[in-house]
Amino acid sequence: MLVTSEALPLAKTGGLGDAVSGLSRALREANVDATVFMPAYESALDAVCGLEKVADLPGLVGGDAEVWAGWVADTEIPVLLLRNDALYVRPGNPYLDADGREFADNGIRFAALAQAAKRISVGETPVRVPHVVHAHDWHAGLTPLYLHAAGVKWPKTVLTIHNLAFQGNFPLRLADQLDIPPAYRGSDGVEFWGHLNFMKAGLRYADRITTVSATYAREILTPAFGHGLDGVLGQRAHELHAIPNGIDPEVWDPSCDPYLSAHFSVLDMRGKVRNRLDMQRAFGLPADPEAPLLAMGSRLTSQKMADLAIEVFPMLLAAHPCLQIAVLGCGERGLEEALRELARRHPRNLGLHIGYDERRGHLLHAGADMLLHGSRFEPFGLTPLYSMLYGTVPIASRVGGLADSITGLQPGPDTEIGAATGILFDGDRPADMLAAVERALATFAQRQRWSVLQRNGMTRHFGWEAPAAQYVELYRMLAPVAPVGAPMVARRPETAGALAGTDIRKRA
Ligand code: ADP
Repeated sequence: MLVTSEALPLAKTGGLGDAVSGLSRALREANVDATVFMPAYESALDAVCGLEKVADLPGLVGGDAEVWAGWVADTEIPVLLLRNDALYVRPGNPYLDADGREFADNGIRFAALAQAAKRISVGETPVRVPHVVHAHDWHAGLTPLYLHAAGVKWPKTVLTIHNLAFQGNFPLRLADQLDIPPAYRGSDGVEFWGHLNFMKAGLRYADRITTVSATYAREILTPAFGHGLDGVLGQRAHELHAIPNGIDPEVWDPSCDPYLSAHFSVLDMRGKVRNRLDMQRAFGLPADPEAPLLAMGSRLTSQKMADLAIEVFPMLLAAHPCLQIAVLGCGERGLEEALRELARRHPRNLGLHIGYDERRGHLLHAGADMLLHGSRFEPFGLTPLYSMLYGTVPIASRVGGLADSITGLQPGPDTEIGAATGILFDGDRPADMLAAVERALATFAQRQRWSVLQRNGMTRHFGWEAPAAQYVELYRMLAPVAPVGAPMVARRPETAGALAGTDIRKRA
């Protein structure tokens, strides 16, 4: 059972949603009865078909709740939804209200998810108990603690860190209300600088911990990348595994992506030109088949070096008057405003869309020449992988998963492209980013070399099969004698697909 706050297309604010849905699909293809368990957000209720109530869960923190079962339409992925409309059906995204403020009761909302996961896992509901409970990120972090506090040996638990920067810190006084036993409230439990830390709860009590790239797994053991939890992680370093993410070909494939009006592949790149024009239109840039087109698509935060990009863009535009830049993102209000100001100053060269927009997200990779993806830290970094698959060359920081998945062009003028798929840079000064983009522009001018870079990226394989096999091995190690039982969610063929199911492709 994958306990999560996001899974595509039910809810997504970033890579977590992509990763959980890609993993569950791949696990099912590997004959694992993977079931997603998440809050019944309105978007989730819309995207699941065949919904039926399977359990009442009275007395959870935040109020009585119910468990509903169904399927992601047109897929084999079963879903259990935790229903408490007062907690989960609200305007905004899973964490923020419509004005971008965190919901004041996020601690309660996600503690309820963990309490419900525990109750399912110990057989307090009619749902068949899972063999392994796989918690994702801080939202599910209390799940291992509740199971541990109940003295439960089975099922075993795994916590996957998708981003250690988000930890779910709440006032420690909430511990009473959340039913966290006093013995678990100290610094060897959930306490973190006077707060109650959900991620730390997962790190302390999960049977195994995984994270999403080998480099990030090493980095988070150091103070520079550990966000204060490197010590806690260090104590469990021997139980920390690195399993990379993959790409879900049902969602990301330039040869059949339903968000695109023209398709292409490494064998026939003509469709990319059409996407460039679509993209220029979507971002309000002049149609130009030749101008170098640089994209940036991410959360607008200091993690993603949006502050640096804002300093670098005017310098680039001064040096390259024909350069076009397209930015898609949302995040910190100050950064959004600074980008708006830049777009006002450079209306013909900088196209901006502030907001979350899946179609533009796909178009960005399909139409651009290069993707700027600076990161001060990056657990995995799905976006540059998408760009590589779509023939858009990433310019990225040499950290975390980016260092593992992008082969950087060797330094020096006119070096062999070799196996390079992108341009990596070190440091977080504007000059570092600027030099990397300049290098990309110089290489772009040498079309022959550029097309080798593109081809290298497009032919890399980023499937989920290998990562899913690693998870299966981990689950097997934890639950070696798990009996084959009935599925957690029984499929009712007469209703599957009959309700308001939304397939990603149909939605597009
Ligand atoms: P992170 O999980 O740190 O945000 P990733 O690059 O791993 O970064 O994943 C981000 C995911 O969210 C990608 O699928 C990307 O396309 C998507 N995304 C981010 N911002 C936006 C946006 N404003 N509109 C549409 N998709 C977005």
